[in-house]
Amino acid sequence: SSAGDQYDVVVVGGGPGGYVAAIKASQLGLKTACVESRGRLGGTCLNVGCIPSKALLHSSHLYEEATTHFKKHGLVINGSVDVDLGAMMSSKAKSVEGLTGGIEFLFKKYKVDYLQGFGKITGPNSVAVELNDGGDELLSTKNIMIATGSEPTPLKPCPVDNDKKKIVDSTGALDLPEIPKKLAVVGGGVIGLEMGSVWRRLGAEVTVIEYLDRILPGIDLEIGKNFLRILKKQGMKFKLSTGVVASEVKDDGVTLTVAPSKGGDESKLDFDVVLVATGRRPFTQGLGLEAMDIEMDRQGRVVVDQHFQTKIPSIYAIGDCIDGPMLAHKAEEEGIACAEHVAGFAGHVNYDVIPGVIYTHPEVATAGKTEEQLKDEGVAYKVGTFPFSANSRARCVADTEGLVKILTDKDTDRILGVHIIGANAGEMIAEGVIGMEYGASSEDIARTCHAHPTLSEAFKEACMAACMNPIHF
Ligand code: FAD
Repeated sequence: SSAGDQYDVVVVGGGPGGYVAAIKASQLGLKTACVESRGRLGGTCLNVGCIPSKALLHSSHLYEEATTHFKKHGLVINGSVDVDLGAMMSSKAKSVEGLTGGIEFLFKKYKVDYLQGFGKITGPNSVAVELNDGGDELLSTKNIMIATGSEPTPLKPCPVDNDKKKIVDSTGALDLPEIPKKLAVVGGGVIGLEMGSVWRRLGAEVTVIEYLDRILPGIDLEIGKNFLRILKKQGMKFKLSTGVVASEVKDDGVTLTVAPSKGGDESKLDFDVVLVATGRRPFTQGLGLEAMDIEMDRQGRVVVDQHFQTKIPSIYAIGDCIDGPMLAHKAEEEGIACAEHVAGFAGHVNYDVIPGVIYTHPEVATAGKTEEQLKDEGVAYKVGTFPFSANSRARCVADTEGLVKILTDKDTDRILGVHIIGANAGEMIAEGVIGMEYGASSEDIARTCHAHPTLSEAFKEACMAACMNPIHF
């Protein structure tokens, strides 16, 4: 690094980790550039992840409401409610475009230089950019932030070809040209269950094939079991403890060969479309990390210390390409903390309370420890639960599926975990996260006045159940 460096920070990757880091760095007075090859800012999340999936989840939810739930509210549709898939996809695209454009605007507002091109680290203080429009640019910089994100992990027996629309990954599943009659979802994780729900609501028969004997490994077991029951009731089919051995793409669909994961006879299943959603892996291809001798772990994640610093002090990494949950808000928090550290401030991420949300209906939201983790750690704990069927607001909107479950330290009453299945669980979890961030006890929340009638009263009552008694159950 020398006084003549063009930049204080060059961020490689313009996803939620990278663009947030770039804006924060610039706000803190650092001369900042962000290099993104996709042609659009926002990364996986905005272009082919969180945002388009939530758009389709909402549209398909409205359809399901109209076709199956309007009746119970006394709403009768004279005629049919039809899906115009093209229009639904356009609505999704409009949300995405508005938001990516919004980040470009923010870059201008906060004076972040945006380079459209592929970045390669050529030294501790230099990034070579192969510009999308042709030509190269060599950037000299005091610091480099790697925010190159992740990509779907391939599944050997099931090679993805998003163009053919037969075996697809999440990106292909966000853009199917028609509603499949039969859709297989390989992998019972968040992305598979969300995308499976979209297509089931729109009319597909959806079968989730999962190698383990449960969906959503790592989630609180009671919540996982409850959620599985709800999804089955909605008509989603499950083949648990089942692995995909082979696939054959034909003109009219895909034949999957499956086998019990513990061994046993193979069988064949036919589908129109197969979604492979078995996980994501860090993406650092072409970045030049090997040549720089930057350490990576066995999963291909960039190894960093608590300040997101690699072995080369001027090179940092954040988001999906390092350890931790692959979530947009985790990447954003790291982007901010890393920018603060680079600017000489104390940046910090509290990894104990990173919420995780599944945007199905009902939603599932969790933060903190699961009951199984507390058992493993030998922590003496208490459980408070409250079902939405006993919540007045859930009753008056006739949407009573789910519960709030609070886990507290048996001695101190401090909240250690919050697990919610419910219509607005993804919003409600913020209450749990704030409580845990501030070290709240369940009694703190039980004695906090919550508006009536709201779903959040179920949260309060679950806290009452943990430290005294609930009133309404
Ligand atoms: P990314 O968003 O992957 O961004 C990295 C960017 O870097 C990419 O745009 C890439 O083009 C660019 N890049 C890579 N290498 C280079 C290079 N050498 N030069 C220039 N540019 C480069 N998370 C949630 O929190 N909530 C959700 O609801 C949610 N839903 C999801 C749904 C789906 C279908 C998927 C696939 C993911 C979802 N995620 C969700 C996960 C979320 O998208 C990621 O955790 C998040 O995008 C990670 O952010 P990031 O900035 O680390 O990386």
